[in-house]
Amino acid sequence: MLSFLRTIKNLFLDGLFPRICVSCRKYLTRTQYSTMCDRCFQAIPVHSTFFCSVCKARLPDNTKICHREAQFFLGAVSDYSSKELRDLIHSFKYSFSTEALHPLITLTETYVRHLDFDFTDFIVIPIPLHKTRERSRGFNQSAILGKSLARILNIPFFQDGLQRVANTDPQVRMRDRAAREENVSEAFTVRASLDRFQNKNIILVDDVFTSGATLREAVRVLKSCGAKKVVAFVIAKA
Ligand SMILES: [Zn+2]
Ligand SMILES: [Zn+2]
Repeated sequence: MLSFLRTIKNLFLDGLFPRICVSCRKYLTRTQYSTMCDRCFQAIPVHSTFFCSVCKARLPDNTKICHREAQFFLGAVSDYSSKELRDLIHSFKYSFSTEALHPLITLTETYVRHLDFDFTDFIVIPIPLHKTRERSRGFNQSAILGKSLARILNIPFFQDGLQRVANTDPQVRMRDRAAREENVSEAFTVRASLDRFQNKNIILVDDVFTSGATLREAVRVLKSCGAKKVVAFVIAKA
C-alpha cells in the first residue's frame, strides 16, 4: 500500500516537475539517477589505470614507465572528452545539484575497483577554494568529492589540510601554461603544524586535471612538509 502511494506521489511530482537528463535533455522516467538517463550514464568511460602527471600517459601496473621525475601519480576516473561527463560535472559544480553527485560517486567506485591499488595507509585532502570563492559558490566541490572518496576507501578525510592563501583567478581564464603556473605559485599553505604531513601518504582531490598547475603546486607544498607518496585524484583529465 505504501509503495503504491509512493508511486502515485512520484507520478504526480514528475507531472508537476518533469525531470530531464542534464546531457541529452530527454525526459527521465524510471532511471537509476535523477539527473542523468541510463544511456548517457553508460556512455561515460571509466579508466582502469593511473596516469603520468607530466605527460598524462597511461601507467599500467601502477608503475612509472615514462617520466621518472614525476612527483605524483595522477588518478583520473574518466575523461573530459566525454560530453556526458562534462555535463554531469557542470551540473554538479555550477547548478548546485547535489543529485549529480550520486552518478559521480558510482563512477569513482568503479574506477577504484579497476585500479586495484592499496590505499589503506593514505589520507584524503581536498584542493581548497579561497574563502571568498567558496562563500559565493556555497560549497567546495573538491571537498565533497574528497569526502565521498574517503568513504569509499574507508580512510581518513582532512577537509582543512591545505588552505588557499591567494585568491587566484580561475585557471580556465589563463592564456597559457606559464601564466597558469604563475597564477598558482604560493597559492597554498598548510593549515596545521608542519609535521602533520610528515611521512604521510596523501590523496589530493580536485575535480578536473587540465594543465595540472594547481595540483603540482599543492603537491610541492605537501612534499615540502614531508609528505611521502602523493596521488592526485580527479574525476576527469583533459
Ligand atoms: Zn541522457
Ligand atoms: Zn610521462
